[in-house]
Amino acid sequence: MSRPTGATVNQQALRHNLAVVRQAAPGARVWSVVKANAYGHGIARVWQSLADTDGFALLNMEEAILLREQGWKKPILLLEGFFHADELALIDRYRLTTSVHSNWQIQALAKATLSAPVDVYLKINSGMNRLGFRPEQAHAAWQKLRALPNVGEMTLMAHFADADNPQGLVEPMKRIEQAAEGLACPRSLSNSAATLWHPQAHFDWVRPGIILYGASPSGNWQDIASTGLQPVMTLHSEIIAVQQLTAGEGVGYGYRYHASAAQRIGIVACGYADGYPRHAPTGTPVSVDGIRTQTLGAISMDMMMIDLEPCPQAGIGSKVELWGNDVKIDEVAKAAGTVGYELMCALAPRVPVGVI
Ligand SMILES: *Cc1c(COP(=O)(O)O)cnc(C)c1O
Repeated sequence: MSRPTGATVNQQALRHNLAVVRQAAPGARVWSVVKANAYGHGIARVWQSLADTDGFALLNMEEAILLREQGWKKPILLLEGFFHADELALIDRYRLTTSVHSNWQIQALAKATLSAPVDVYLKINSGMNRLGFRPEQAHAAWQKLRALPNVGEMTLMAHFADADNPQGLVEPMKRIEQAAEGLACPRSLSNSAATLWHPQAHFDWVRPGIILYGASPSGNWQDIASTGLQPVMTLHSEIIAVQQLTAGEGVGYGYRYHASAAQRIGIVACGYADGYPRHAPTGTPVSVDGIRTQTLGAISMDMMMIDLEPCPQAGIGSKVELWGNDVKIDEVAKAAGTVGYELMCALAPRVPVGVI
């Protein structure tokens, strides 16, 4: 037997979560966001479970080509568009939809030689000040694009900086309305948070990412507990050794934990080189054979120590879930000062992934 550390990707949960998205946004079409290798789940591993989607949205040309080569025929949206003008040849060849956020991209579209018009998502800066045209520039950009023979269908696109805040759409929606005034066009605005919590922003196409993978856009698992969303990724391992501590003994690098009384601890074959966050402090939840307990001391590269006092039956070979159904990835992320997004994306290449 090899090292007992692995991840699983639950395909049924992916299908279920897409159905939850459809229920939440019944009038909209769905771009399933699979950037960053499907948030660390593996794009080749997940796309067929999401094949009921209307399109896939992603970032890299490589990911788009992979989907086409695996047989996906419906739309693919490049969320940040092309990074260099020479990518337009591939956009043409693989029939991709491109976002356009800057004037240089309009000029590149004007100059390109394409076999057919390309569908374009014109990106508006809704106030986040990351990508996109300011509302007052939107009309000029729209007219320039509309006049190009290389441009096919056009959609207005924007992204929200603060959609997990109940008031977070008020100002952005004003800017988007200003940009859209007089343009009879479809719109795509909503990330996961807006898909769940702001139906007034659904319009024609929603763009959920994190909720497809069963984690919360707000970082709080409780916020999605009533939606029925199911965790897709499980990170698991086993206890490979047990230590019996006496009062006052230290644990791990820097002795960052000291036992205040006699204590049984388990050594788990999972560490930061597997993608578990090194910043997770003592007290971060883990589950052993379904019983919740906690990490103790610093996370090592390949191991971590956990408290076995709540689970006296546990010993060498006991199954440990680092995140999944018993311990939500949002809980681990919160303890470590980050969000579920980062933990999923950081699953290390050395962790073997199984599909269930
Ligand atoms: C990542 C991304 C999304 C999805 O965001 P989630 O919070 O994961 O739902 C949607 N739109 C754009 C432009 C993105 O970059």
